[in-house]
Amino acid sequence: MPLTAVPFQPGEEIRGFRVVAVTPVEQLGAVACQFEHAASGARVLHLFCDDAENAFTINFPTPPPDDTGMPHILEHMVLAGSEKFPVKEPFFEMVKMSMATFINAMTGYDTTYYPVCSNVEQDLFNLADVYFDAVFHPLLTPATFAREAHHLAPADPADPAGALRLDGIVYSEMKGVFSDPEAILARESVRKLLPDTCYGRESGGDPAAIPSLTHAALQAFHATHYHPSNACLVLYGNIPTLRFLDFLAPRLASYTRVPRTPLPARQPRWSAPRLHHETYPTAPGEPVAEKTFLLMSWLAGDNRDPVEAAALRLVSLLLLGHDAAPLHRALIDAHLGADLVMSGSSEAGSEASFHVGIEGAEPERLDAFRDLVLDTLRAAADTPFTDEQIQTAFQQAAYETLEIAPMFPLHTVFRVVAAWMADLDPLLYLRNASHFQALRAAQAREPRLFNRLIRERLLENPHRLDIVLAPDAALEARREAATTRELAARRAALDEAGLRAIAAAAAELDRANGTPNPPEAVARLPQLKPTDIPPEPRQIDTTPYALAGGATLLVNAMPTNSIVYLILQFDLTGLPEHLWSCLPRYAEALNKFGTATADYATLATRIGASTGGLAAGTAFYTPVEQPNRLLPVLIVSLKTLDERVTPALDLLEDLLFSLNPRDSARMRDVLTQARAENRTEMVQNGALTVRLQAGRRLNTLGHLGHVTGGLPQLALTEAWLADFDRGNREVAEAIEAIRGFLLNRRRVTASVTASPAAVEAIRARLDAWLGRMADTPVTPGETGFTPSAPGVEGLAAALQIAHCAMVMPAPHLSHPDEPLLAVGAHLVSMDYLLPEIRFKGNAYGASFSHQSLAGAFVLSSYRDPRLTETLDVFRRVADHVRQAPWSQGDIDRGIIGVAKRDEKPLRPAEATGVALFRHTIGERFERRCRRRRRLLEATPDTVRHALLQALEAGLPHAAVCVMSSRARLEQACQSLGDLTIEDVLK
Ligand SMILES: [Zn+2]
Repeated sequence: MPLTAVPFQPGEEIRGFRVVAVTPVEQLGAVACQFEHAASGARVLHLFCDDAENAFTINFPTPPPDDTGMPHILEHMVLAGSEKFPVKEPFFEMVKMSMATFINAMTGYDTTYYPVCSNVEQDLFNLADVYFDAVFHPLLTPATFAREAHHLAPADPADPAGALRLDGIVYSEMKGVFSDPEAILARESVRKLLPDTCYGRESGGDPAAIPSLTHAALQAFHATHYHPSNACLVLYGNIPTLRFLDFLAPRLASYTRVPRTPLPARQPRWSAPRLHHETYPTAPGEPVAEKTFLLMSWLAGDNRDPVEAAALRLVSLLLLGHDAAPLHRALIDAHLGADLVMSGSSEAGSEASFHVGIEGAEPERLDAFRDLVLDTLRAAADTPFTDEQIQTAFQQAAYETLEIAPMFPLHTVFRVVAAWMADLDPLLYLRNASHFQALRAAQAREPRLFNRLIRERLLENPHRLDIVLAPDAALEARREAATTRELAARRAALDEAGLRAIAAAAAELDRANGTPNPPEAVARLPQLKPTDIPPEPRQIDTTPYALAGGATLLVNAMPTNSIVYLILQFDLTGLPEHLWSCLPRYAEALNKFGTATADYATLATRIGASTGGLAAGTAFYTPVEQPNRLLPVLIVSLKTLDERVTPALDLLEDLLFSLNPRDSARMRDVLTQARAENRTEMVQNGALTVRLQAGRRLNTLGHLGHVTGGLPQLALTEAWLADFDRGNREVAEAIEAIRGFLLNRRRVTASVTASPAAVEAIRARLDAWLGRMADTPVTPGETGFTPSAPGVEGLAAALQIAHCAMVMPAPHLSHPDEPLLAVGAHLVSMDYLLPEIRFKGNAYGASFSHQSLAGAFVLSSYRDPRLTETLDVFRRVADHVRQAPWSQGDIDRGIIGVAKRDEKPLRPAEATGVALFRHTIGERFERRCRRRRRLLEATPDTVRHALLQALEAGLPHAAVCVMSSRARLEQACQSLGDLTIEDVLK
């Protein structure tokens, strides 16, 4: 955008706003228009640029006064009804019926963010209308407080005088967070490193402290911080600035200035390092050997100086940027733990920190860990980095300044908010390319700059915190017992009338949460009509080119800011049966091993020096028109800079053609890392684990998803390491077999988004590679799938909450009813599961999705305090659909909710993948247009008929899996009967 596109000058006053500055931001091709609302002091900044995805965000400083989670609970509550929109859940109503490309709210350490994005102008202003009223005029009712924060209820509603339970949505959400060791480690490293500031308190809410929060304290917190004088409104996109000012002016008119929330205090620096011991819960009986986390954290600098922040980022890349970087390699080679965690530079407000951590350790290894880290840092401080090391680190940092990443508007807004909240020039962090340039100049003047920083900011810096986070099998039981004692004490203090009052309030809350908003209240929300949806779905400008031997290269035209995105895809049809479960090992080996002529460290250095990342993974599809044909693929994606495309292709060539897994010392390290990751992920990502487990008997896709991503992966890595001689041989043989299997030109398809010169280089290279590959027909083979009866399974782990999943067969994408099922699934999620499982059941999340390529319906709950009740809700889904009072208006909202998934603007990395996906499954634009038309014709009758028919056919074959503590699962056995229970970690 040229400056001349902006019709005002600094100093002018427009619509009650003083123009503070009008500044070009070359890096974004934007003009930043900065205003202050004269009467209220509200700060507004519009990044006016040529992007149709517009953003409207309101942001407040919310330093937490204690550990009760006040900022987080308030964030939930303001979106639950306001003066102008007095419906129960305007947020969820807008999720249901807007074209938002992003809609959510987030609580940070010291700031709360309310962002919405849309590429439909009217929609953006509709969302802005709802969000503005929500944050400045929320109802904050006692009932919402009870539901979101905490309330008492009879443990058994049929026994109102019996034991009590404590419920709340944020309470459930944070119980999930406080069961996760990596989340605990991340939180403690901030809280204990900055103990004398607001960062020393828990903005999300400690489950032990949440019950002491009062409604009055929360209302007072809102009144103090959520005032226009405190607000930073950051806007982005191609909507003319004046339209935003016209929107804001009448809404801000009645406000006058109040004192702003003071900036967070700085942490006084320590004169000596400190040590902190912490524990996390593991399941009773679960082995605890090598499950300790060790972390060293430094308060390393001042984030307000962006060149200093960039320097710490460079130090982090020099020491830890790839597997052969000195500190990374020293930690793996020393075998004090399985892998690195949480390592690198980081920030909390204006404070910059630096962390080095390992997982899979033991508490008594702390001294050895500390010595190793300090010795390695000493060596790094004393030895000049080579030019090559420094160029590699700058190369890796370049992606952070150049990349047009997914959710680009949002990330851009966050940079503005971070600077503004610290009272800095709001554009400061947008100029990161120039900060890195300044850093390059500083390094040229002082060649040993980074060595000096390692010495001053780390080695000689006494403000260091060492954390030992150890497993504790009794922690869960102690937490439960403390809650039970507390509840018993509260119950004992109540007379019969008091108990009756609690039961009555809980029943009333339940009733209110289960009652839909009255249609006339919903009608007050600003809404789009299906006619506002573009008649044709959004397209990617893709041109297919034929390569040697008939392979296809898709070239996607869009600006990439000199980054190259390349995906190579290999058709896995006919892979020998025993190799499916080894695909994750091959995928990981590309980043972990060497080649025929060079060791892993050499390759790791090359990956760091010439790519912005190399990744591989599997996906299982079916073609659009062939529901019964399995289409399994392995995807290798590479990101590099225009100027590095040749060395990046050299690297990829070496890996594809001569990857060498015959390095048994490295194999042991790699498998140990994989096992550590599996052990954590299977539980912390438990919602996925239960979905894969329940879906495994459904069809080949479900089976392969489970084999490559579910519990079998944990069992395999455990077994390979338990008998390493055998494991080493098996995995190395499998990797070699997969390497050979892929090198068949009939399996290859590629997709690239890059400059024309890079595309040409890639095209020539692909032709050469294909010429070296076999030319063998592709024929189907065995996958090991055998259909069997669905069951009800329980997975026991150290969780204070549950994750539940039910999976059943459903029509395929090729079925003409598919668009109707998508609308139906959206409405069931929003109008049935959300009220029943989140609002009444107080789970953090619940959803119903139609996975049309896999031919499955998936119902799931996330961080759920209930289990049998939730499964009951799942089982009654068809009853709900049978009697749901859907009007055409409801269906229209569902249509918009579904259509928007196809309207999200895709940034280059996503577009490269989506273009390839559409090509692979045979999804053509004409079919997408047909689907759009069919979607627009949906009516209550057609949706109900299609969904009911599909559910009635699927439900008898539904499989169920839940993950929770063994005690909860055993309790559930009483009502579920046939539940089989298995420990996740044995
Ligand atoms: Zn939350």
